[in-house]
This record gives sequence, C-alpha cells and structure tokens, in this order.
Amino acid sequence: MCFVDLYVLYVNECVLILKSKLFVFHTKMFAISRSLRMSRCLSGFRRGLSLSCQSGPRILAAIDFDRTIVEEDSYLAVSRLLPTRQRQELQEQIRKSGWLAFIARVLQLLHGEHKVNSASVGMLVRRLPAVPGMLRVVRRLARNPKVDLCIVSDANSFFIGEWLREYAIECLFAGVFTNPACVQSSGEVLVLPYEEQGHCELCPSNFCKGAVLEELICSGKYERVIYVGDSCNDLCAMKRLREKDVACIRRGFELFGKLAAHGRDLNCHVLTWRDGHELEELLMPKIVA
Ligand SMILES: [Mg+2]
Ligand SMILES: [Zn+2]
Repeated sequence: MCFVDLYVLYVNECVLILKSKLFVFHTKMFAISRSLRMSRCLSGFRRGLSLSCQSGPRILAAIDFDRTIVEEDSYLAVSRLLPTRQRQELQEQIRKSGWLAFIARVLQLLHGEHKVNSASVGMLVRRLPAVPGMLRVVRRLARNPKVDLCIVSDANSFFIGEWLREYAIECLFAGVFTNPACVQSSGEVLVLPYEEQGHCELCPSNFCKGAVLEELICSGKYERVIYVGDSCNDLCAMKRLREKDVACIRRGFELFGKLAAHGRDLNCHVLTWRDGHELEELLMPKIVA
C-alpha cells in the first residue's frame, strides 16, 4: 500500500468517525500519520494501559497543550499568518462558532487564498516557545517508571505532533487525546472534531476533556492522576479527579481567575504554578519513583 493510499484511508476514517459520532481514542489516528516513528510511539496507548496492570499501581500525568506546554495558544499563533484584518474578523466569530471552526477557516484561507502550505504552518508551530521549565517537567515525569504521560488538548494532532517532534519528545507520551488532523494531498491541513458531544456545557461540542479523564480513571489502572492545565475546559477534566489526585492550575490564566467560584467543585488536591520551574518544585515531591 502506498503513501497516498494510507492518507486516503486516514481521511476516510476521520469522516466515518464524524458520521458515526463514536467516542474514539484518537491515538488510533496517529497509526497512519506521516511519521511512522510518531505513530509507533502514540498508537501504543491502549497497550500501555494494559501493560500497566502487570507493573503495579501507576500514576497518570495528563497535560494540556496550549498555554500549558507551549506558552501561546497555537490556534491564535497560526492565525497570525493571515493578514491582520482577515484574522480579526475571524477572531470575532470564535465566541459564536467555536475554536474548531475558527482554525478550520484559518487553515482553509491560508492554503486557498494565501498559498501557505502545511510545511509553513508546521514551521510556525515548531517555533512556538515552551512554557519555561516545562520541557524539564515532561522529561522528569517520563523518566519515572511509574508514570504514564499523556496530552489532553483541544488543539490538534498535526500541531501537537509537529511541536513534539521539534523537541524529539514524542516518544515520552503514551497517548495524545486531541482533534485528529491530516495534510490533504492538496497540501491543506484538515482538522476534524474529536467527537460530537452535547452532554457537557463546560467543554466545546467537539471535545469533552472530562470524558477522556473519566474513561482513564475508570480503567482502574491509575493509583493517582495528575492533571495540568490553564483553562475552563481543563476544569471539566479536573472535576473528575479524586481526593488522592492532583489538579495543577496555572496562575494568572483563565481557570485560575475562576478558582474562587469553581474551587469547591474540585475534590482533589489543588496546586497552582506560574511556570515549569515552579511546577517541578511543587509536583515532584508528590511523586515518588
Ligand atoms: Mg490550555
Ligand atoms: Zn466536558
């Protein structure tokens, strides 16, 4: 089977999932991504979960991507490739149409009107700066044999994959739960919804982070869960955490601002952090190898 056939299969699978509205672990999507190395790393998440049964109690560290691993919002950063007026008009629609529709239109205009191809989009994403100290946190967590690391993000598999490859850290993650994306034969990046959900008002219709966490916790594999994030759809995931789990909320960002109102909804231990250096200092003592 040639490379193009793999892409056709990939896109067809995305469309099938869209139609059937099934809840799917999208690590599967990576199985036929451009990078075979990447796919080998990321398609093993379910296998990793089952292996963890044999090695005693484990810890899950689930981390958001935008403004948690990378300092910027990747969708807003990519939209800056558009002329200012066009970008501002699209941004005004985010509240009404949502972030997924926003980035879909941005990518469509970049490719169709401005002849910006996927390589240029990927290059911009690869240059997004990490939150200071966060790469060190990720590497330290990954070195702990008890810890399974995953990303839970409303960005997309193309952006996240590009960024992880830039730092050669893709293999540190047992799974990436995000909106599937692929590069079409025309060169346009296509982003599809992770799911179509109507049960959760905290999250956008394309992705409920809490449902992902719920499924991972209900697997019974994890003695403790750590969740690191900055915004209100991270709150949905954090609300699923148990007393022994830890929610790590970034100070100075959206969710921290609403902590006074929503803090009582959390049953878990809460710590707040400003950058990766502080997170490392506060979190590592709670994780004994
Ligand atoms: Mg975020
Ligand atoms: Zn939700």
